[in-house]
Amino acid sequence: MGQQYVYTVDNNLYINLTNRCSNRCEFCVRYYDKPIYGDLWIKDEPTAEQVIDILEREYDISDYGEVVFCGYGEPTYKFDEIIKICDYVHSKGGRTRINTNGQGSQINGRDISGEMSKNMDTINVSLNATDKVKYDAICHSDYGLEAFDIMLDFARNCVKAGGNVVLSVVDCIGQEEIAKARKIAEEIGAKLRVRELL
Ligand code: SF4
Repeated sequence: MGQQYVYTVDNNLYINLTNRCSNRCEFCVRYYDKPIYGDLWIKDEPTAEQVIDILEREYDISDYGEVVFCGYGEPTYKFDEIIKICDYVHSKGGRTRINTNGQGSQINGRDISGEMSKNMDTINVSLNATDKVKYDAICHSDYGLEAFDIMLDFARNCVKAGGNVVLSVVDCIGQEEIAKARKIAEEIGAKLRVRELL
């Protein structure tokens, strides 16, 4: 178990703030036998100041396409830290993205969609499935069958608040499911990203 709070993939910088998650997705990279991006299990969650200090000392934000909040967990458990880090990245002219399971408002006990939309350049919400039963069967959320609607309401609220929202699914769900996912994305005014399963 280490302290890898910042890592790079291709031309992007990734921020790993927490290992907590309200889901236990069957395809999650956390459960792979072999780590893909290094050891992202962390002993202590970092403060925003610790992450900003690492970025300041070790990276030139302008060298990277995006700063992405991702890692082995759901980043919105650290929402206050996210906002501070976004401020820093934007002050350096960088762009920000979050990969989230969309349950952040429930996790924080308040609607965070407005603040998220104001501070994040791209909000990538994992749709994963096209209805609540299928979602629950794959994601095993702490919020049970309510999780799908919680996630979709969050995405919809972010769109309404002016956020650039992308719903994502993995390509292995099949063409019929992908078509349904595209319709869901269109209905709420979001884009759809079909990503390759790692
Ligand atoms: S929401 Fe993300 S971090 Fe959490 S279990 Fe699913 S894939 Fe893993």
